Amino acid sequence: MKLPQVGYEAPASVAEAAELLAEYQDEASVLAGGQSLIPLLALRLARPAVLIDINGVKELSGVSADDGWLAIGAMTREYVAEESAAVADSAPLLAAALPLIGHEAIRSRGTIGGSLAHADPAAELPAVARALDAEFVVRGQSGERVVRAAEWFEGYLTTSRRPDELLVQVRFPVAKPGTGTSFLEVARRHGDFAIVGLAAALTLSDGVISDARLAFAGISDVPVRAAAAEDLLVGQTPSDELFDEAARRATEDMDPPADLHGSPEYRKKVAAVLVRRCLRAAADEAARGSD
Ligand SMILES: Cc1cc2nc3c(=O)[nH]c(=O)nc-3n(C[C@H](O)[C@H](O)[C@H](O)COP(=O)(O)OP(=O)(O)OC[C@H]3O[C@@H](n4cnc5c(N)ncnc54)[C@H](O)[C@@H]3O)c2cc1C
Repeated sequence: MKLPQVGYEAPASVAEAAELLAEYQDEASVLAGGQSLIPLLALRLARPAVLIDINGVKELSGVSADDGWLAIGAMTREYVAEESAAVADSAPLLAAALPLIGHEAIRSRGTIGGSLAHADPAAELPAVARALDAEFVVRGQSGERVVRAAEWFEGYLTTSRRPDELLVQVRFPVAKPGTGTSFLEVARRHGDFAIVGLAAALTLSDGVISDARLAFAGISDVPVRAAAAEDLLVGQTPSDELFDEAARRATEDMDPPADLHGSPEYRKKVAAVLVRRCLRAAADEAARGSD
């Protein structure tokens, strides 16, 4: 399918990109890896007047760990993050999720910022960002602001980024010692978006769960934290009975959508299984790490 006629700008710096966004506002779409935007253009589901291509903005790429945070530039390709030792060391949950995104060809173009700005509720990275309370750094002509993950995802493919702002960086808190993580999903085929996915992190202190994080993909129009299950887990010793009860609490008020991939009842059953499996895997990893 041919792309529609569209204007094209290629800024060389964040300042130039912000200037263009201020000029075009919601008439513009930022072009990162193009793995979601180009299909949307081809299908006429997005009709921007101009594309602002940020592939030439070098300052937007890179990974660094400092001061308790892993900072990833928005234009960092998914495969670069996947192969980064800093990501593996500082954000093992992110490292576990990255290989599940599409296929290698997608990840070689797709970017961390693109996935999180696109905000597909079935995608892996939004669930990871929500689980870890990531921070989103956006910049416009009037300056920079930081948005917490809880406020970033507003609805289906919708974030709290304003039309004149560029997502420049995403920050993940460095995993605490004694933390184990697991990302599991059920998809029709390897590389497909998740029917249901779960990002999980457990921290053990002297054998007791001191921090628990669970965030689902694919059950709502935004990634969803399982707060009732997290509350249950903290202060407890890991056990299969505890994880069964966490699965029950995580899914009791869940109201997932129906589509051709599965009914709400099917999604709830899958979600409960994922809670049990992720928690067992995360607890085992945390126990190994705190030996
Ligand atoms: C066949 C196929 C399978 C896929 N499977 C999966 C999958 O299983 N899981 C998954 O998560 N993803 C999947 N994807 C999507 C892929 O991960 C994309 O790379 C990602 O969703 C978008 O990243 P991008 O860099 O390509 O962004 P683009 O497509 O360039 O942009 C996506 C959106 O984000 C906006 N945007 C991008 N960067 C910025 C920025 N810095 N500031 C502000 N706005 C910005 C764009 O304007 C656009 O609206 C798949 C894609 C394809 C084609």
